[in-house]
Amino acid sequence: MTRERHLSFGGVTRQVLIAGGGLGGLAAGVACTRAGWDARLYEQAAQFSEFGAGIQLGPNATRILQGWGLGRELELVAAFPPWLRVRRAADAAPLGRLRLGPAFASRYGAPYATVHRADLQGLLLGAARQAGVHLKLSSRVMAVLPSSDAIGLRIAGDLEVEGDALIGADGLWSAVRSQVCSDGPPAFTGHLAYRALAVQADLPAALRSPEVTVWLGERLHVVAYPVRRGEWLNVVAIVEGKAPGRVEDWDQAAAGAELLRALGRQCAPLQDLVRAMPNWRLWALHDRPPMASADEMVRGRAVLLGDAAHPMRPYFAQGAGMAIEDAAALGGTLAMAADAGLDVPLALRRYALKRWERCARVQERSRRNGRIFHATGLMRWGRDLSLRLLGETLLDQPWLYRGPAR
Ligand SMILES: Cc1cc2nc3c(=O)[nH]c(=O)nc-3n(C[C@H](O)[C@H](O)[C@H](O)COP(=O)(O)OP(=O)(O)OC[C@H]3O[C@@H](n4cnc5c(N)ncnc54)[C@H](O)[C@@H]3O)c2cc1C
Repeated sequence: MTRERHLSFGGVTRQVLIAGGGLGGLAAGVACTRAGWDARLYEQAAQFSEFGAGIQLGPNATRILQGWGLGRELELVAAFPPWLRVRRAADAAPLGRLRLGPAFASRYGAPYATVHRADLQGLLLGAARQAGVHLKLSSRVMAVLPSSDAIGLRIAGDLEVEGDALIGADGLWSAVRSQVCSDGPPAFTGHLAYRALAVQADLPAALRSPEVTVWLGERLHVVAYPVRRGEWLNVVAIVEGKAPGRVEDWDQAAAGAELLRALGRQCAPLQDLVRAMPNWRLWALHDRPPMASADEMVRGRAVLLGDAAHPMRPYFAQGAGMAIEDAAALGGTLAMAADAGLDVPLALRRYALKRWERCARVQERSRRNGRIFHATGLMRWGRDLSLRLLGETLLDQPWLYRGPAR
């Protein structure tokens, strides 16, 4: 057994251990080093790689990236759609729209961006490396080893490491979570996400788009948006169904024909889009109920961040956004703790107290959006009417996009 002790006391740099190197873990590494902490990140995969899929980022998240000096790099890789349009899946009828683009960016002081996950990861990975985060690959966290004045991790391959604080950023199936709260595994939502990416130039002209388009149908919805400076199109189709074999496997091959069957009879442009997209992949969506207290995010020297803390349905497009917000809040709290000479567990509790209500609200709204998006009968009729009358007001979310209260 190799034992690395990184702990330090007496005003010397403090060390934080980060379990997981997804978008949340990398963002945490950047934020903690900016706060003056030494960050050591342990990722189970042999290399940093992201799934071929897109991410929408509201101004609440892009503002933080700008604050970390990543605004210019984001501009180089992302797309900045001018509109979000909602259409009925059955007949393509327009239901509502929200102007994005420069007007939206100046309203919120940061843009609405759509980005390839690998590009966002590349950006955060570059920033983490530059900040001096120690990045350890092929390092699966097997166990948390708490003690009174430190916290440790057992890493696969007989390594034990120790630090002043631990961030569980190890995603939906978090191993660190059981150290913080014992509420079992996340639950299957009954919803399946099919995802595909295509180079826009390879698609028929009528299917190319610089906008975010949301198609609402009965018990289904489809979202399409550009990524990679607008050169690629990302499509996500959500239908209701049974979980496929291995639920922990995010990324399974799927057939477009199977998705077309699940979508049923929808308008021609939507069916054409599904037929034209290559290489569909399938995800079984899981979540947890909205958090009920800060205790679900912190215990002693361990905190949770991102999907490990508050996995949510993607119907508000904010899972990664909340992980980035968590990282920024944690960095701010740790910097303040160092200045004020605050005890580490107390500082971590402050972070959880700052974050849990906002994240719980986003979890709840994500579930509610799912019910609204998939509505049938009278509820669907009411939704369509409200969107036609109040589209912009309903689609804009100032409480969310302005970012958390300071
Ligand atoms: C269909 C779909 C669409 C989405 N769209 C959006 C969107 O538009 N906007 C948005 O903001 N969010 C979106 N999300 C949500 C977003 O993808 C997640 O919230 C975000 O990726 C969570 O990041 P994370 O770092 O917390 O977790 P993850 O990305 O899951 O990263 C966890 C990391 O931890 C590692 N790990 C796990 N266990 C261990 C261990 N024991 N030891 C070491 N490492 C470990 C994993 O390998 C992984 O690298 C979407 C999600 C889905 C499913």
